[in-house]
Amino acid sequence: MAQPLAGKAVAEAVQREIVAELEQCSARAGRPPGLAVIKVGCDPASQTYVASKNKLAAKLGFHSRPVELPEHTSQAELLAAIGALNADPAIDGILLQLPLPKGFDATTVVDHISPDKDADGLHPFNQGLLALGRAVVFPCTPAGVLRIIDHYAIDPTGMDVVVVGRSILVGKPAAMMLSARHATVTLCHSQTRDLAGHVSRADLVVAAAGKPGMITADMVKPGAILIDVGINHVQSEADFLRYCDPRGLESFRQKGYAITGDIHPAACEKASAFTPVPGGVGLMTVTMLMVNTLRLYRKRLGL
Ligand code: NDP
Repeated sequence: MAQPLAGKAVAEAVQREIVAELEQCSARAGRPPGLAVIKVGCDPASQTYVASKNKLAAKLGFHSRPVELPEHTSQAELLAAIGALNADPAIDGILLQLPLPKGFDATTVVDHISPDKDADGLHPFNQGLLALGRAVVFPCTPAGVLRIIDHYAIDPTGMDVVVVGRSILVGKPAAMMLSARHATVTLCHSQTRDLAGHVSRADLVVAAAGKPGMITADMVKPGAILIDVGINHVQSEADFLRYCDPRGLESFRQKGYAITGDIHPAACEKASAFTPVPGGVGLMTVTMLMVNTLRLYRKRLGL
């Protein structure tokens, strides 16, 4: 039977490591790590994500600095706010919640964050270090994927791995990180000619396209390991029955929606192991943000 690779146990283990590491080094530093989370506007999903980041930072004993800017903030004002955080000695990590409201040039804004305080690992300098195999911080979601497979003693060395999706946030860094761990990686995207053919040869699949149920049972090799990064909101009962596990139908009817991944539940049944959605990779991302902040703090203070 396929083994579910639950994210909660992994996130809790990483959080325990963070607390233990902080106990060792914060007395020498004289202050806790500082994380500033910037939110512009009032997008409800961003609000939830930002709240969970601030909450976990506080729980782990970090100095948490929420920076909430109104929707009508100008790009110059946002850049000034980032400049002030770049210069603030109590702040080690800066996280800019994306997407920004319309009218902002996200690339310019992300580039303005000091690479030494880039808690998301998205600054071009840190992306470059990642490509060179010299990264200090890793983009949080693919870092979470790697922690999950490590936790469950899955060694990607020599495996044929297919990553579906090539975004800067997830797919591309995931491919680089798995290649650095000696997997043979194929990076697929919307123009890939034979996605099913690539997936059918893979020992491990990382699905990060944002398309519900796109990896179907007929595509996957029996016994493959399936890592599902996708987070898709399903609203209609027809879509629920097409993409989700029918055993959740009662709960769908009560809530009026469901969250599902990019990997169809029937494909998971053919796997040797799979990450559930929800309850898998999604639980890791915020924790890996704290790992990055702790790394930046240690690096800045020479600990
Ligand atoms: P993007 O939209 O930035 O990228 C999607 C990628 O998937 C693109 O590279 C695109 O190809 C590719 N793609 C789209 N359709 C297909 C297709 N039919 N076949 C093959 N490839 C396809 O999304 P993100 O990377 O930001 O996010 C991906 C998913 O992961 C989303 O569901 C998102 O919600 C989720 N996510 C989850 C997180 C978590 O914490 N678990 C964190 C971040 C994201 P192309 O480049 O050619 O356009």
